[in-house]
Amino acid sequence: MILAPNMRVNKITDITIDMLKENNIQAMILDVDNTIINLDKEPLEGIKEWIDKMKDSGIKFCIASNSIKKEKIEKVAEMLQIPYVHFSIKPTKIGLKRAKNILGVQNNENIAEVGDQLFTDVLGTNRMKMFSILTEPLCEEKLKINNLKRKLEKKVLKKVSSHNITKEEN
Ligand SMILES: [Mg+2]
Repeated sequence: MILAPNMRVNKITDITIDMLKENNIQAMILDVDNTIINLDKEPLEGIKEWIDKMKDSGIKFCIASNSIKKEKIEKVAEMLQIPYVHFSIKPTKIGLKRAKNILGVQNNENIAEVGDQLFTDVLGTNRMKMFSILTEPLCEEKLKINNLKRKLEKKVLKKVSSHNITKEEN
């Protein structure tokens, strides 16, 4: 199921090294808006420590954000000391492919993408046959169009229970 996340967590820092190892994940591609920073551009508490710990365990990182605001994404990348791709146009494969090249990991199935949106993050990731991890958004979005999108996401998520979904079933 193309819209079913392989895994769901409350927030990115809930992901453990054991969860990644169980799923043969060697590298992670990270969304930024509402996954790492909130609408006020404040980073999620503990994110830097979480990244450092994961790096110590050998996990590689790259940001792939759909944001066109290069400076904003660059600032987050610098804070976390990881490379980035901005304007990555998820759910197309363009930015995710660029991030994969930066990561230098050969097999897509060994790469997880973490993001808060079903129709960009999860859809793009599943199209790439990478491992999709959906988080709750850090804060509710203000725009009406996004609220509509969220409602739709909730409906879809109700239908696609992610509990027993494996990559092979996508
Ligand atoms: Mg996002």
